Amino acid sequence: MTKAIKILGLLGRAVDYSYSPLIHNTACKLLSLPYYYTVFNIAESNLLADAFRGAKALGIAGFNVTIPYKKEVVPFLDELSREAAAIQAVNTIVNNNGKLTGHNTDIAGFAAPLLPYRESIKGRTVALFGAGGAALAAIEAFSEFFDPKEILLFVRDPKKAETLLEKSGYEQKLPITIMRSDDPEKTRECQLIVNATPIGTRGRDNGAGNTIIPPELALLHRDQIVYDMVYNPLDTPLLQAARLAGATTISGIEMLIGQAERSFFLWTGMKMPVTAVKQAVMQEIEQQAKQ
Ligand code: NAP
Repeated sequence: MTKAIKILGLLGRAVDYSYSPLIHNTACKLLSLPYYYTVFNIAESNLLADAFRGAKALGIAGFNVTIPYKKEVVPFLDELSREAAAIQAVNTIVNNNGKLTGHNTDIAGFAAPLLPYRESIKGRTVALFGAGGAALAAIEAFSEFFDPKEILLFVRDPKKAETLLEKSGYEQKLPITIMRSDDPEKTRECQLIVNATPIGTRGRDNGAGNTIIPPELALLHRDQIVYDMVYNPLDTPLLQAARLAGATTISGIEMLIGQAERSFFLWTGMKMPVTAVKQAVMQEIEQQAKQ
């Protein structure tokens, strides 16, 4: 007799394109774990209450949560981890016999590939583009692990970003200055530049161009670290320009795998076979690029 399969899944809207099923099913297969990870597209946030009632009744083992529900799920959970509570956003839920706990592994997943550069970031200015959920996770990671002097937050709508920071429930522990993303001149003085917008994503028409820092401005240089959260393509226009300028580059796939590794551990108690999983994802992304 085979052991019953436990179900894990991604809660989001129109998220069929996600790499999370590939990541977690590959890991479970490699470790012979009795889990299956699938996608749950939820059309409207008013369906979340029913979704969680059903999840408890059916014993769904856990979820990832993505756009647009990372904040919306919070009221339905029984408790939050310290990280999730800090930014009131959840990307991982564990169902322990009907008790739902929300975690945020984006924070540690974002921080992981930057930890080797901790000393060079401490006391320096960092630039962060975007003011959505991923940017909030980066801000929390900066405050928890890196202690920079200041964050320059580059956005297209400063008023909206101001309101968001006020309303996010995020307790500001670091000086944050809001800047306009169409004037990135100040990034020249930043030790680290992070893209937390979708600009540069394959197949997306970004209108104003496909990189946050137009190469003709020549703002990037060899003393900088450039981190693009976008992982498809693996080598984004921003990373290409940064490498050309001699900067250190970090691809979004590091964060993608980093957050997944931590979610996987929370659900299964097992260490994800990261090298093999990353290989599978990179192969899939490269395969799609050829189509
Ligand atoms: P989000 O909540 O939708 O926020 C996106 C942010 O980008 C918003 O501040 C938005 O500005 C800004 N933005 C969008 N298009 C823009 C443009 N053309 N010019 C200037 N700003 C623009 O999304 P998110 O969850 O934060 O994710 C952001 C990106 O990070 C996505 O591409 C996502 O795939 C990636 N991500 C990667 C990982 C990983 O593991 N590597 C994890 C999380 C997210 P407005 O507020 O003005 O719309």
